Parts: sequence; C-alpha cells; structure tokens
Amino acid sequence: MSASPAHSVLEPAATRVRDPLSGKSLWLAGMIGESSLDDDRLNVQLVYRPGHTPEVRARLETALERQIRELGWKGEVQIQTTAETQQDKTPKQKDKVKGMSGPGMQPHGGPVRLMKLPGVKHVLAVASGKGGVGKSTISVNLAVGLAQKGHKVGLMDADIYGPSLPTMMNLVGRPLATPENKIIPLEAYGVKCMSIGFLVDESEPIIWRGPMVMGVVRQFLQEVVWGELDVLIVDLPPGTGDAQLTLIQGVPISGSIVVTTPQDVAVLDAVRGIQMFNKLEVPILGIVENMSWLALPDGSQMAPFGEGGGQRTADRFNVPLLAQVPIDSTIRAGGDAGRPALANEDSEYSSAFDPVISAVEQLLFVNDGA
Ligand code: ADP
Repeated sequence: MSASPAHSVLEPAATRVRDPLSGKSLWLAGMIGESSLDDDRLNVQLVYRPGHTPEVRARLETALERQIRELGWKGEVQIQTTAETQQDKTPKQKDKVKGMSGPGMQPHGGPVRLMKLPGVKHVLAVASGKGGVGKSTISVNLAVGLAQKGHKVGLMDADIYGPSLPTMMNLVGRPLATPENKIIPLEAYGVKCMSIGFLVDESEPIIWRGPMVMGVVRQFLQEVVWGELDVLIVDLPPGTGDAQLTLIQGVPISGSIVVTTPQDVAVLDAVRGIQMFNKLEVPILGIVENMSWLALPDGSQMAPFGEGGGQRTADRFNVPLLAQVPIDSTIRAGGDAGRPALANEDSEYSSAFDPVISAVEQLLFVNDGA
C-alpha cells in the first residue's frame, strides 16, 4: 500500500469537517482511526464518541466523503465506523495512516471554557493578516449571500480601529436597548448587524478605543440580542497578534476564513492567520484571495498584485483556496454606497462569492441540529 494518496486526501478532508461534539476538526479530534488504501479504495475508519447521535454521524460521514471527493479522489470510499468509550478517548492520531503526521495532534492544554451563546448555532471568524485586503467586503457579501439563501445570519464587526460595517451595510443610527439593557442589533439585507461603529463616535481618538478591544467581542456576543442564528460571522480586527488570539479564545468558533491579496507580503500575513487558527484548533474552511485579477476592456485579465499567492499558501497548509475575487468597481462602489455586490443585480462578479457561501453552508449542514 502506498501511503501518499491517503495522506494527500484524507488528512485535508478530515481537517475540513468539524466535529460538533469537540468543536475541532475530525482530524484534530482524533476521530480518524486506522485507514488504508486497497487498490483504488480508500478505507477510512471514523471513530465516534458517546454523544455522537445517529443524525450527526450520518452528516459527518456525508461531509467527509464529500470533502474527499472535492479533493479529487476518484476511487471508492469506504467509511467504517467504530464507537469509542469514554476511557480510551485520546487515541494517538499520529501513525494511524502510515506517513501521516499532521500538526497539533496532541490535544492541547486543559479544557477551554467555551462561552455559551444561546440561539447561535455557529460562529464563523473572518480574519486577515493586515488591513485593506477586503476582509470586511468578503464578510459583508458572505453574510448577505447566506441570508439570501434563507439562513439566519448575524454579522459582527469587531474591527475597533476601522469599523466599516455601518457604511458597507448602509446602517445609520444607534441600536436600541431592551429593558434588560441588551443591545438590539440593526438589520440590513436580512442580516442582523452589530458594529463598534454604531457606538463609537468616529471623531473619538483611537487611543481611547484601545482598552475596549479586549472586551468588545465578548460583549457583542453576550450583550446583543442576536436571537436564533444559523451563523454569526465575526469580522475580526486585522492582524493575528495576541490581541486577536485573546479576542476569540473561548468563543465557540465552528470555522474560520482567512482573507488575503495575492502578493507575497500579504500572503505572509495570511500565513500568520492560518497559524493563529491552527493554534486555536479552529477548523479553517479556506482562504479567500481577494483582488486577484482585473478585467481589461479588451476582455483580457491582468493581475496587478501578482499571481498564485493564495494557492501557494493553501497548498502549504492543506486548506482549500475557496475563491479568487476580482478587483471590480461594483464591489468597491457597493462597499462605499452601502449596497453589497450580492445585493446588486448589476454586479457582474457576485458569483465569485459562491464557493465561499457553499463552504459555509456545508459547515451549517454538518452540524445543524447537533
Ligand atoms: P479590510 O476589511 O481588509 O480592511 P475592506 O473590505 O474595508 O478591507 O476593503 C478595503 C477597500 O477595498 C474598500 O474600499 C473596499 O470597497 C475595496 N475592495 C475590497 N475588495 C474589493 C474588490 N474585490 N474590488 C474592488 N474593491 C475592493
């Protein structure tokens, strides 16, 4: 048996599917048992824990097979399942498939105390290594696209230094509070929105905002009346330092997306974003490369920021490159005018967001009802 095809398909596939019980990917949760390759049949052993209901099992199996297929596996896939008891809960993931040695195999530290978010099924974090790469643009369009598909979506702009959600969603005014002093989010394009920009005066010096950074995500999660949400998208402040790490530690994040532009310097920043999520053991749905190309009047394309950066980073970390979004004046103007490209039928490139929306829908599908 050659180990490499199993290595190249199974590990990334299992990394993309989240176990709703542990909050980690199937790979990091140690749920992939002895797996092998016979001719062109990939035999995968999925190890369940007490608490995995039949519905969750069925969804996980479908999702894992789908990911294996998406990674280009053409042969047969046989998923065998075993149940693990509470006692032998931490299998040595390493060496399960010969040649596999993924990062972070050992369960880390002590148990992370997760914040409870009643009514919110999933939290999705959108990060970038630096500002200006289009993180908010992607977050906003993703939120609108998911809402258009009938999902209940919240969008939280945690970028304390440059909150752009009010402009991008054309929301003005301050949110109202309930008698219990909880904040009622504003709503646009079917998305419930909360931004530090609703509360902070633009003229207020940045220095005053600094001390607010740490508390803001927690406060927005716990003190905003989100109601029932399928997914709450958190547009993180740019950067991947300790501040961002602390911000999201303990928040039950189902998945993450890293936004980058194609050039080397931006890609290096994206690498840090990926490392941050790996450190937190948050499944990475993939990378979105923004401003990848520009259509010229003669129909040809040019790539002002270079080419291939997103793909190289995706290959390096075994995560999908979800989309390459072009530079487009309707995307830019939509942001400035508060009419996201996905809410604008004249926008030529709104389909560029489709794979990102599908990836999030898959996440919702796997864990729905868990
Ligand atoms: P970030 O959140 O990473 O700081 P923004 O989403 O605020 O970045 O985007 C920065 C600027 O670039 C905004 O003016 C936005 O409208 C513009 N922009 C983002 N993506 C695109 C794109 N694909 N085409 C054209 N303009 C874009």
